[in-house]
This record gives sequence, C-alpha cells and structure tokens, in this order.
Amino acid sequence: MTIFRPFVLKSVDIFFDTLSRLKYKNFNWFTEWDITEKCNLKCRYCFRPHVKKEARHYNEDYQKSLKTILKLKPKGMIITGGEPLMVESFPSLLEKLKKELNPRIIVTTNLSVSENRIKSIMPYVSNYHISLDGLGKVNKGLRGYSGDLIINNMRFLWNNIKDYHENPSMMTLTVLTRENCREEHIVPMLEAIKSIDAGLLASFAVMLPVTDSLSVASDNTLLEETRELLHELKNRYNIITVGSINRLSDKKETEMTAVKCYRQFFRSRIKPDGSIVNCKPSVNIPYFKSQFLEALSRKDFSGIYKVLKRIYKTMLRDPGNPLCLQPCKCEEFIDTFLLQKELDMENRKVFRIMLNSLAEKEKEESFRYITEKINKGFKRELLDW
Ligand code: SF4
Ligand code: SF4
Repeated sequence: MTIFRPFVLKSVDIFFDTLSRLKYKNFNWFTEWDITEKCNLKCRYCFRPHVKKEARHYNEDYQKSLKTILKLKPKGMIITGGEPLMVESFPSLLEKLKKELNPRIIVTTNLSVSENRIKSIMPYVSNYHISLDGLGKVNKGLRGYSGDLIINNMRFLWNNIKDYHENPSMMTLTVLTRENCREEHIVPMLEAIKSIDAGLLASFAVMLPVTDSLSVASDNTLLEETRELLHELKNRYNIITVGSINRLSDKKETEMTAVKCYRQFFRSRIKPDGSIVNCKPSVNIPYFKSQFLEALSRKDFSGIYKVLKRIYKTMLRDPGNPLCLQPCKCEEFIDTFLLQKELDMENRKVFRIMLNSLAEKEKEESFRYITEKINKGFKRELLDW
C-alpha cells in the first residue's frame, strides 16, 4: 500500500474534484448577491468575524458579479453583505441591473447611513429588509449603532419611497439574544415600527450558533418564554418568526443536523468576487471526502463502501432530494412554496411578482422538475399565481 499511497491519494483527489464540478439544474428564480464583505457595524454575533478587521483585503469584483447575474437572469434578487450601502458604486450597479434585467430587488441593510445615501438607491429598490435588534441602547449594545437612529432612517425611507414605487415593502429583521428578547425590549420596538406604518412586518430569528451563551436559544426556558411572547404579540403587531425559532424545542434540536433542501435548485448565490456558490457540491464534498479518507486510513473497506453509497444516493441518484450538512435559512420560503405550505405575507408578495415574470416555457420546465423530483402533488396553477 505504501508505494501506491501517493497514487491512491491523487486518485481520491481527482474523484472528489470531478464530483465537485458536476453541474445541477438550477432554475435561478432568485439570486442572492453577497455584494460586499465590508460593513460599518461590529455586531457581537456577526458570523463573518473578518468584517471587523479593518485591514482585510477585500477581493470584490462588482463588474464580474454583474456579468454573472446578467447571465443567470434571475427573476428576483436579494442583495446582502456586509453592508451593501458601503459599496460606493451601488446605485449605478443597481441602475444597470434594472435597465438590463429588471428583477425584483430586495436589499438587506442595517440602514445606519446618511439620508442621502438611502435616497441614492430608492429609484431602484422597492423592498427593504432592515436589521434592527431593539431601540436605542439595546441595538447599540448588540450592533454598535443606536436603534432610535435606525427608526428615524426607516421613517425617512418609508415617507419617501412611495414617490418611486407603487407597492414598496419594508420589514425588520431582529436577531434574538439574551439581551433583547424580553417584553420590555420587544414591545417598544414594535410600537416604534408601528408608528411609521401599522402594516409593516417585523421578523424574528434566533441568534446562531445556538450554543453561544449570548443566543436566546442557549437557555431553553428563555427560548420558550420568548416564543410564547411573540405568539401573544402576533395579533397585535405583524410578526413572523423565521428559521430555527420555529424548530427548536429542546437542547438536542439546537444542534445543526442534515436537512433536505430543495431551494438550492431554484436559487443561486454570488460571492463578492463574482463567483457562483454551487450549494450541493460545496456543502457535501469536503464532508464526504474527509469521511472517505478516514475510512481509507483505517483500511475499513465497508466504511469506504458506505461513504460511496451515500454519495451515490444523495448526490447522483436523486438530485432533487439531497441532504445538506450545512443548513442555512437563506430563501427558506422557496421550500415552503415548493412543498405547498403557507407563505407569510411578505414572501407571498415577492413570490407573486417573481412568478409573474416567468415565461410560459420556464413555468412548464419548472413544473415538470418539481413534480418529478420534489412534490408529486404540486399544483400547476400555483405557478400562475
Ligand atoms: S450588520 Fe451584518 S455583516 Fe455587519 S457586522 Fe452586523 S452581522 Fe456582521
Ligand atoms: S440549506 Fe444547504 S443546500 Fe440548501 S441553500 Fe442552504 S447551504 Fe445550500
């Protein structure tokens, strides 16, 4: 084995490299563009710790990203970061996107910028997701910027956006931690949002990783109390809960486990350098490879067989039913739609506009794929919604 070792390892590399290059059908209904890694805030729970390092070299290529998006032709887009408004050329990039493709665009922003900066993107963006963890000091303590100033900017945005768009939308996104999950934090924030417009939606998600002591989910009792509180407030305010808050019920479930994901065939993701993230291979290959090498080093042939069988089952035989070992909550609403479950108000709005811009041929092709690979009982008329 020793003399063959380099040859075997090289072959393993080639095998997994070939797997990672496999292309899967992607309908690109939505494209998520992580336009930048730069950010003006320093949130304590940021999952991109490098955004906090001032000296980081940012390898961002906006023109390449734009070219890739124009090729993918998504019907809807979510532009996120870092903070998209930190990109100097953001308004002109949006202008080009609108002119050449005209997708429905949602921008996720912390809105802690000047009014002029906010105004610069209004002609191109009608849907906004605003990160807000509480009023005044609560948001400042968690994110480093006063929540009251963000409310002022939201008011400015909402008062002016109707000059540009007929049917705009604005929703807040709150990350639940131990420091902002009590009634005395949540209710004043919801009241402030309601004072801008009673119809605005507020969404809540659990801070990840759930094992971090700052996360509301690190304490089961606190998580349960928060969930009950949000349930009680639901009818008084427009509240939705997203991601893991709906699934976590005990400590065991707070750990990430493999999930079935169908949206990966309908969404794409562009990184700041303009490259496309191909979910399935990038998620599974390193895991499978390490399992394979581990079994190989133990000369465990039944272990090797098991890994190969799993690769075959999850990646090759049934591409419409893969498992993801790194579940994310990005565009989870696509899975909700494909499995014909109830969509919340905000996503219903976005979905309807997106479906309206699908050509008849695209609808037929999507329908065939959904009924063959995902949901046999999917109703064709849903695509004409
Ligand atoms: S706004 Fe987002 S990207 Fe910026 S520091 Fe906070 S969590 Fe990180
Ligand atoms: S759950 Fe996994 S496969 Fe699905 S979109 Fe997220 S990272 Fe990709």
